[in-house]
Amino acid sequence: MKRTPNEYAVGWGTGIMAAMTQHASTDTSAEPTVQTFDLIVIGGGRAGALAMAAANAGQRVALIERDKLGGTCPNRGCIPSKMLIGFAETGWHVQHAAQHFIDAEFNGANLDEIFDSVNTSVAAVDPGTEKRVEASAAHLFRGEARFGDTKTLQVNGL
Ligand SMILES: Cc1cc2nc3c(=O)[nH]c(=O)nc-3n(C[C@H](O)[C@H](O)[C@H](O)COP(=O)(O)OP(=O)(O)OC[C@H]3O[C@@H](n4cnc5c(N)ncnc54)[C@H](O)[C@@H]3O)c2cc1C
Repeated sequence: MKRTPNEYAVGWGTGIMAAMTQHASTDTSAEPTVQTFDLIVIGGGRAGALAMAAANAGQRVALIERDKLGGTCPNRGCIPSKMLIGFAETGWHVQHAAQHFIDAEFNGANLDEIFDSVNTSVAAVDPGTEKRVEASAAHLFRGEARFGDTKTLQVNGL
């Protein structure tokens, strides 16, 4: 594809443009689809919000995610870990209620329900985020992003 000398792979600003390739089918002999963007965001973690905001502000934006939209924090980091800590703390407080002059008895925890609750929260993250991305003007690509050259990002090594 032809580009002017001022076109770059990823970035902001007037005249900056990015190109990305992705095969439209499993036929690897087929010509890859090439689209151009003002901004390409690799990773739909916290930067996903930036991608949506930039797209809604009128930029041509691509968001590339190889795994779960939302990234580490809601899928396997802050949120599920703090949910588990919250359950554990609740049990601890019940067990130590007498310190606060409260008469309570700890009769065990339902681990199945605890893990179901965490898993339900995690399972909603990717589809919920995908809906928000789709509602924005950002173009979502599912796959691994790699630089083909300094001005081209390839998805899934194509
Ligand atoms: C157990 C745990 C608990 C945590 N608790 C807290 C907390 O309480 N408070 C706090 O502030 N932080 C916490 N963190 C840290 C927090 O999760 C991270 O700082 C935060 O998620 C980083 O956000 P990010 O968007 O930079 O990266 P990520 O959320 O990791 O997002 C990066 C995304 O990019 C994608 N990606 C990467 N390379 C490519 C590629 N080449 N192509 C396509 N996609 C790609 C990944 O799949 C991922 O979705 C915790 C982390 C862990 C593991």
